[in-house]
Amino acid sequence: MPIANAFKRQKEFVADASHELRTPLSILQSSIEVIESEEKGKLGEFSLQVLDDMKDELKRMTKLTNDLLWLARSDSNAITLTKEWFPLFPVVNELIRKCRPLAEQKQIRFTVHMQEDIMVYGDKERIIQLMFILLDNSVKYNNENGQVSIKVERNRKNVMIEIKDTGIGIPIEHQKYIFERFYRVDPSRSQRQQGYGIGLSIAKWIVDAHGGTINVQSEEKRGSRFIVTLPQPTIIESEG
Ligand code: ADP
Repeated sequence: MPIANAFKRQKEFVADASHELRTPLSILQSSIEVIESEEKGKLGEFSLQVLDDMKDELKRMTKLTNDLLWLARSDSNAITLTKEWFPLFPVVNELIRKCRPLAEQKQIRFTVHMQEDIMVYGDKERIIQLMFILLDNSVKYNNENGQVSIKVERNRKNVMIEIKDTGIGIPIEHQKYIFERFYRVDPSRSQRQQGYGIGLSIAKWIVDAHGGTINVQSEEKRGSRFIVTLPQPTIIESEG
């Protein structure tokens, strides 16, 4: 079927292009680092600003390239999960540390409600990636002086992770589409946050791959709540 073929070729192109872009992007990254470490003292204010802008653009391009490559790999079933037991509390703290620079620009406060000894069974790297996507959004789409709260609860069968923000919210008619690839709610309101509508589709992929669920409850101008539930093996006590 010609359309199916064209679609397949397009996907292959995205996979190849994003793969090919990684090397030049990482060369650019290290070149900027060299200039920064060796020439910074000699540069004037304007050049320093240019350098900063280049770093931001490069970061965006690298993220897009990695996300596209990730989607291509997930399409071709090239991503496998490596599951293990791990403590979630240090992961949450590390993620908050990572989100802090952006959060501080907007004076956003984080609160965490979870028992420190909660163990989770799953692919640690993927779960970090999932939580980062949700946390990053809860900061990006938040208001000045907003709040982000992270709640984790475990029962015998599931772990429930809830990330709630006091941000701009998502209109009800858009809520069922936000987990689709490249879907962005009203690009004009999201324009300042230069994303590509990929994050939540990756988040959904990770949750599905763990056999879990992800849901959103949101009200415009009030905020959003993302709830992830991941099924857990019942025997946890034997670990650690
Ligand atoms: P991106 O943020 O790169 O646009 P995502 O897939 O992560 O892509 O999100 C899709 C869309 O869902 C966003 O463009 C945004 O409009 C909306 N969205 C996601 N998270 C939130 C949130 N916490 N608050 C408000 N809107 C959100």
